[in-house]
Amino acid sequence: MNTPRCFVFLLAIACIVPTSSRVIAQVSVGFGEADVSPTLGKTPVWIAGFGKGRAATKIHDPIMVRVVVLEHAGKKIAIASVDVVGLFNDVAQRVRSELRDFTCILVASTHNHEGPDTMGLWGPNLLTSGVDPDYLKRVEKGIVQTIRAADKTRRPANAAIGSASAPDLLHDNREPYVKHDQLVALRFDGADKKPVGIVVQWNCHPETLDSKNTEISADFVAFTVEYLRKKHGCPVVYLTGTVGGLMTSLHVVVKDDTGTPLKDGTFAKTKAYGVLVGKLADKALAAAKPVTLTPFEVRTQRFFAPIDNPFYMLAFNFGVLKRDAYVWRNDPLKAEPFKGQIDAKTPLCMQTEVGWLKLGNLEIAAIPGEIYPELVLSKVQNPADKNADFPDAAIEPGIYAQMKGSHRMIVGLANDEIGYILPKRQWDEKAPYCYGRKRAQYGEENSLGPETGPIVCDMFRKMVERK
Ligand SMILES: [Zn+2]
Repeated sequence: MNTPRCFVFLLAIACIVPTSSRVIAQVSVGFGEADVSPTLGKTPVWIAGFGKGRAATKIHDPIMVRVVVLEHAGKKIAIASVDVVGLFNDVAQRVRSELRDFTCILVASTHNHEGPDTMGLWGPNLLTSGVDPDYLKRVEKGIVQTIRAADKTRRPANAAIGSASAPDLLHDNREPYVKHDQLVALRFDGADKKPVGIVVQWNCHPETLDSKNTEISADFVAFTVEYLRKKHGCPVVYLTGTVGGLMTSLHVVVKDDTGTPLKDGTFAKTKAYGVLVGKLADKALAAAKPVTLTPFEVRTQRFFAPIDNPFYMLAFNFGVLKRDAYVWRNDPLKAEPFKGQIDAKTPLCMQTEVGWLKLGNLEIAAIPGEIYPELVLSKVQNPADKNADFPDAAIEPGIYAQMKGSHRMIVGLANDEIGYILPKRQWDEKAPYCYGRKRAQYGEENSLGPETGPIVCDMFRKMVERK
């Protein structure tokens, strides 16, 4: 065929430019959401997070599953976030088994303290699980369906990322006072420049409604999402990051329009706090810069962590905590399933996982519980308080220090909820207590044990360093 030379030249440019800078590098993204609120009326719905036996009386706002799906070069990644207290690893495994065409599926919880029990610890009494197994199945199904639906809405998009800090929006109720006060926000815009969706990651316990509330709610997260959705006219996925140590909205001073401080445990404060987090996300988005999210690289490391918590052992024994136990042999990479009756002699462990997503210039750490900011930001107390239980314990390798990319994000309660992940040298169960305190601080009772922090951080480091 006789093609004029200039046409060939133009054709060559037309092929080269989009291929190198637009088509290959561009990610395809889809968002989805579904209401997975429990049904009230037939059997009691136990609200998780604070004391046992808190029966729900009403649904104030829905419990949602929110999903973002990213695709590039045939690899699909789904990140799902559910407005519940925590979901165990078996839920993530079952969701993955239904969606085998995905390279990576991350199932996270916001750690909502005003939604239904999905772990078992908040039933009517010590011996009874608060989980309704049928409801849990419905949540699982909801996650699978929402990922499928989000996948169907995928379209090419350009991403921009920004961050903003707000120490005043967090209360740290455990010494040493170290906050993870950086919010990260990602915005995806379509070819028409209109927003396709937003992903927000912030580090706070959704528990503003406090321990007496009996109305099902997603806490401040509901209001943050509502604010951003209205402002930007697109779906929003909210991710909970670092919440150990303990990052909370309780005791944060939030005022109404007249300057009067709003009380913890009220919807007025919960809404106002949620809007403040939404405005912080706006600040992050206003400063957002384009970011390349391709190519994708995903790593997962499964491992075992010993259970040194007598309360958890009891809960295992009575079937209140329903998950597989393994025999602990001092090796995080090897343990055989435990069968039979739990006794004091056999040391047990549970299996969990860490993950690392490298999406172009953005790295995401997937941590299976409530990690302390000290471990994320390499701010473990040094020297340790002399009254700490293990003052000479080695300092764990920090999570963010392992991620060398220009942008970082953390998803806590990712693919599991194993409780608090503490720096070993800040473990303080035995008198005398750190900082001259008369009583132990809160935290250890909701952790697997002092080895959890060292093992999680070590597994994460080795996984990222793996060749
Ligand atoms: Zn918590």
